[in-house]
Amino acid sequence: MIHLRSEHEIQILKENAILVSKTLAEVGKHVVPGVTTKYLDTIAEEFIRSHGAKPGFKGYDGFPATLCLSVNETVVHGIPGNYELKEGDIISVDCGTVLNGYYGDSAYTFAVGEVDAETALLLKTTEESLYLGVAKAVDGNRIGDIGYAVQSYCEAKGFSVVRELVGHGIGRDMHEDPLVPNYGKAGSGKKLKEGMVICIEPMINIGVKDVYQREDGWGIATADGKKSAHFEFTVVVRKDKPEILTTYDYIKGIKTY
Ligand code: MG
Ligand code: MG
Repeated sequence: MIHLRSEHEIQILKENAILVSKTLAEVGKHVVPGVTTKYLDTIAEEFIRSHGAKPGFKGYDGFPATLCLSVNETVVHGIPGNYELKEGDIISVDCGTVLNGYYGDSAYTFAVGEVDAETALLLKTTEESLYLGVAKAVDGNRIGDIGYAVQSYCEAKGFSVVRELVGHGIGRDMHEDPLVPNYGKAGSGKKLKEGMVICIEPMINIGVKDVYQREDGWGIATADGKKSAHFEFTVVVRKDKPEILTTYDYIKGIKTY
């Protein structure tokens, strides 16, 4: 079932969206060589709780941490641990919150120090594809328009789109209908209506599109071991122009990637 949210509900979703956006920036300050992913998780949990909210991921389906931290070839759902970031790594930081009965969800992929040119292009392309997908979140368009926008842009740059994981509706639960794939045909799929709130989250690989699940039961990694990037916004479908509830403004005040 796809919910259409009232302006009051959207306001609460926006409070969550702003908090996850600020949390990502707070974590971003600490993304430097030598830091463990477990430490980044602690920063996020303290930040979220100090703002009167709860981590949205911790305990969700049994996930053990506040953040999904996915380094290099890990696409998403990486569990924070003792890994120490090193120069040239990239790390997808995916954050969720629960506040006043609704969820927030956003992700950003940071570079650790300097990354090689191909990796830099992956980050830029994936972020740009997110905005292209978001631009299609307008009343009367279809889900396939979003996926087509993301896929056609990323594939034209020589990258590939993960199929097994997709975006989603968000509200009183973190994952609601509809599914929002990052691939598809323009003009296909469910019709978008004003008041739908969805998470658009391209997961884009340098090499093959294929992925596998790690033995920890969570981490999803590329089949060829090449790097993958992930960016995510929470967006309200509106009549003329989508309303992005999350923002990278707090991050961009600190660093580019
Ligand atoms: Mg997320
Ligand atoms: Mg999501």
